[in-house]
Amino acid sequence: MNLMYHSTRESSKHVTASQAILQGLSPDGGLFVPTSFPKLARPIEELATMNYRELAYEVLKLYLTDYSEEELKDCISKAYDEKFDTPDIAPLKKIGNLNYLELFHGATIAFKDMALSILPHLLTKAAKKNNITDEIVILTATSGDTGKAALAGFADVEGTKIIVFYPKDGVSSVQEKQMVTQKGDNTYVIGIHGNFDDAQTGVKTIFSDLDLQEKMKKAGYRFSSANSINIGRLLPQIVYYVHSYVELYRRKEISKGEKINFVVPTGNFGNILAAYYAKEMGLPIGKLICASNDNKVLFDFFQTGVYDRNREFILTISPSMDILISSNLERLIYHIAGNDTDKTTELMNSLRTSGRYEITPDMRDNLKSFVGGYADIKETKEAINKVYNDTGYVIDTHTAVAVSVCEKYLQENEDNLKTVIVSTASPYKFAESVLDAIGKKDIPEDDYEQAKILREISGVTIPSAMEEIHSAQVRHKKVCETDKMRAQVEEILKII
Ligand SMILES: *Cc1c(COP(=O)(O)O)cnc(C)c1O
Repeated sequence: MNLMYHSTRESSKHVTASQAILQGLSPDGGLFVPTSFPKLARPIEELATMNYRELAYEVLKLYLTDYSEEELKDCISKAYDEKFDTPDIAPLKKIGNLNYLELFHGATIAFKDMALSILPHLLTKAAKKNNITDEIVILTATSGDTGKAALAGFADVEGTKIIVFYPKDGVSSVQEKQMVTQKGDNTYVIGIHGNFDDAQTGVKTIFSDLDLQEKMKKAGYRFSSANSINIGRLLPQIVYYVHSYVELYRRKEISKGEKINFVVPTGNFGNILAAYYAKEMGLPIGKLICASNDNKVLFDFFQTGVYDRNREFILTISPSMDILISSNLERLIYHIAGNDTDKTTELMNSLRTSGRYEITPDMRDNLKSFVGGYADIKETKEAINKVYNDTGYVIDTHTAVAVSVCEKYLQENEDNLKTVIVSTASPYKFAESVLDAIGKKDIPEDDYEQAKILREISGVTIPSAMEEIHSAQVRHKKVCETDKMRAQVEEILKII
């Protein structure tokens, strides 16, 4: 029987994989989940002969059951190509007694490229399969990282346009440069006078504007979103967990069936949830260690079974993890509740109305493979400093949260399993904080000058993504007030 999908809040309406990807969010507000977990079909000896693209096919074919072999392979080869600066796609580096899974070799030097480089292709194929001839318009509000990764993913993908709104004074200068220099005839980037919440609210308002939808339909357009709750972003992330296991096996670091641990720097809970999916598919995983920064909602949740977002939002040096509502956690809640959609609905309603919920003792039992940990800003800097001084390897601020949490876990627990640190960003992306942690004084303001110092101390070439923004032409100069966002969209689509 073909694997299908339904909402975490209602299980009677089944949709195909391509429909789930097209819809993004279920109309009842729930997230799409597979009706069951498929099992990895081939033995490790066979997986060990495969490269990243071949492994991606082995994993994704089990989930994307209404895509043909040819369609899926086409998506995979268009996604994992020379946009990545290494044929390994996701290299595993052994440094000291830890293994680092580097997920930052794509177009924006952070892990969101892993999924956003394939999502556009999955989406355009999904439209074709469902006889949708409208051009897909991706509309995104970004606080920095996701916008650029989505722009890079959708640039020049036929049948799509992408419009990104960002807070003009609310992103880092590297992030802004990355976005405003974006190439591609179908890309549009607009700064707004407002903060990220204003951008987000503006986009939501446009999405629910029925009058605009009507106009769009007439002109042959339809909106879609690329945000991280789309199942089309979650599934491609399973691949690199399988890939890193296979790589350790190939290097004879582990034997067949031996369990390994993963430590994942976590924000929205998408990355670590993919690891949980890999485990449920039969990949031998011991512990899934969820690493948070000062915004430690998840740490508290794993400690107490209570999820409570009523707390101060703390700005840290690992901004991509500064999150108080981890949207993807809803999928885990559904699975640990024994696939109970009523229970999931009840808890999510409670989160919406009171900002908190508590899971049952049975559900807590099902969380046993997870360990929560957190690192504050000081500990994060110490981790960068220590790894550099001990090994010469330079890690970014997000990866450092994982390293710090990992060290604390190993001190407090007897656990001899091989451990993989999931590295979510290149240190070049957060050069200033990294140089500061290493103890550099008089750090220059210019990010390219910072990059040059980082190259000196790390011995790692400046990624082409950094080189490009240094020399690239600014292509996007529009700035607007928050109440003019809809007008901007109408102008771009010429539907005034
Ligand atoms: C998005 C992001 C994270 C958090 O990943 P989630 O899937 O949201 O948990 C961690 N590190 C970096 C660098 C990111 O961009």
